Parts: sequence; C-alpha cells; structure tokens
Amino acid sequence: MNIYGYSPRKLKEYFEYIGENPAKAMIIFDGIYRRGLKGFTEYGFAERIVERLNADFDFALPKVVEKRECEDAAKLLLELSDGEYVETVLMRQMFGNCICVSTQVGCNMGCKFCQSGLLKTRRNLTAAEITGQALTIAREFDCRIDGVSVMGIGEPFDNFEAVADFCEIVTEDKGLAVGRRHVTVSTCGIVPGIYDYADLPRPCNLAISLHAPTDELRTELMPINKAYPIAEVIKAAEYFSGKTHRRVTLEYVMLKGVNDTAENAKQLAGLVRGHDFYVNLIPYNSTDSGYTKSSAETVSEFCAVLKDNGVIATKRREFGADLNAACGQLRADYTGQ
Ligand code: SAH
Repeated sequence: MNIYGYSPRKLKEYFEYIGENPAKAMIIFDGIYRRGLKGFTEYGFAERIVERLNADFDFALPKVVEKRECEDAAKLLLELSDGEYVETVLMRQMFGNCICVSTQVGCNMGCKFCQSGLLKTRRNLTAAEITGQALTIAREFDCRIDGVSVMGIGEPFDNFEAVADFCEIVTEDKGLAVGRRHVTVSTCGIVPGIYDYADLPRPCNLAISLHAPTDELRTELMPINKAYPIAEVIKAAEYFSGKTHRRVTLEYVMLKGVNDTAENAKQLAGLVRGHDFYVNLIPYNSTDSGYTKSSAETVSEFCAVLKDNGVIATKRREFGADLNAACGQLRADYTGQ
C-alpha cells in the first residue's frame, strides 16, 4: 500500500487495526510530509512496529517523463506504476505556488471543447497518485505548495473517495498544510457529488464548470447537462454555499461565437444573481476541437455586462499557453492519444 494515499483518518484507523496508538499516525504525517522521510526507522517506534510498517507501506511516487517550464508555469508529464500517464501543472501566482492535479486517466464526461475527453476514462487515480503529483512538483521545483486546483485531467466527482482523501491529506496541518480555502475542486456538475462534497466534515472550495447559460447550449457543449441540467446544478451549488458559507466559483470558458455574446452574459447574470457565487471567465486554450477563444475585447465586454448586472466576475489569467498546457494536451502529444 502506498503511504501517500492515507488520509489522517485512514492512517489512524490503520494503527487501531494493528493494535497500536493512533496518535502515531500524526507523528508519521509530520515525518513524511514535513521532513520528507521515506522509511519508518527514525520515529523511535518499537522494532516490531517498524517491521510491520515496512511490510505494509511503500513510498513510490510517479516518474517524471517530461518537463516543460516557462517563466510563470511548469508542466510535468508523469508515468504511473502501470505505465499510464497524467499531467500536473505548477503556476507561480502572486500569492504563491498553485498546482493543478489530475484525478483520472482520461475522462468520460465528453465536453466538446476539452482535449482530455478525447480519451475515455481508463481508470481512476488513487489518492496516493493524486498526492504523488503534489509531492513530485514540490520535489522537482523545490517549492512549497500554497494552493491546489483539482482541475487537471478527469472528473473529480467520478472518483469521489480518492479526491476526498486527497483533500484531507493536502490540507492536514501536520502534512503539506495547504489552507482549505486554497484548495478548489472543480466539477463539470455531477449533482449528487456536489451534495456529498458539501456534506463532508470539512470540504474545501467548490468550482463548477458551467460554460453556458441555457440548457440548450450547455447540453451541446457538455453532455452531462442531459443528466444534470442547469437548475439542478444551481440548486446543488446553493446547498454547498448555504452549508459551508463559501462562495462557489462558476467557471465559464469563453468560446468565440458560441457562448460569448452580451445576451449570454445577461442570461448568466440571471442565473447567478441572488446567490453566493462568482463567475470566473476562462480564456479558451486552443485545441483541435474546432472551437476558438473569444477575443480579449469580447471577454472584457462580457465581464462588464456581468458586473453591470450585479455579478462578481473575474478573468482568469493565462498561464503557460506556450507550454501547450491545456488539459490533456501534453499527454496527447506524448502518447499520440
Ligand atoms: N472535470 C472537471 C475538472 C477538469 S477540467 C470540470 O469539468 O470542471 C478543468 C476546467 O478546464 C473545466 O472548467 C473545463 O471545462 C476547462 N477546460 C477544458 N478544456 C479547456 C480548454 N481547452 N481551455 C480552457 N479551459 C478548458
């Protein structure tokens, strides 16, 4: 078993299971995440415990097979133990280092503009493989991680338990200690997943990929909308913000001539107004999907209409466009799939 997949709760349960004091779990957390230990001999535990831990756990991390780096961003292509590949990104933001992690090999959601969806989900990542991405970035670039977006390849709520465990691991004070408000899980709108996430003991932030203000257009772009139409997504988002007192981010990728008119902005404002949501406008990262990005001018106008209609909106800064860094692109370049 890979130690990096164990949340504090699961590691405590493990110690209870082997008949030892669960407080040892947190000593180990401190050791592996803060001191970078890769064994169990330095904790002063009895020999029999060390032997048991050595027999039960390994410290394997994914292998870096390609690294692209520019001034404000870097991207790693990682090979997993079974030869599958995933991507992880580091963005150097004003407030610190933010990483973007993948949750699946491939993705089943089939969003029309997204490269990741071209490869159907081959398997879920384990919590250890998601944490492994964060640790590999920290090691490769010798940096602290200040923020995490669960927005790489895959649909997090299609792999709920591993993602929930990862959130616990990465935010643990005795571990990587990323603030809960600096960890954001992004979903394409799997409604039951949003409720389950809101009901976790300590959820992190939530972002929802809305991308269209009407069901007709959203269904065209995102097949998931057939199962969970906009009204249900908004209701679930409202439940999350009510329960957690956190503002929900609605992501909106700006596609030229598709969803970027002033009328679309007004429709979107109608959905958002009165809720504790804000809109993050995402510049489209060109792929060979046939969609293109809206001009900077159109994005500014769209943003202005939202603001005029009482909606808080921001434009996402573009990172690493020259890395060919849109979701799934590096993987596709490398594997030809
Ligand atoms: N499955 C999750 C998280 C992964 S995608 C989700 O759908 O939210 C992360 C975000 O990037 C989503 O908002 C997704 O719609 C968007 N995205 C996908 N391809 C993109 C591209 N080429 N350019 C810009 N954003 C893209």
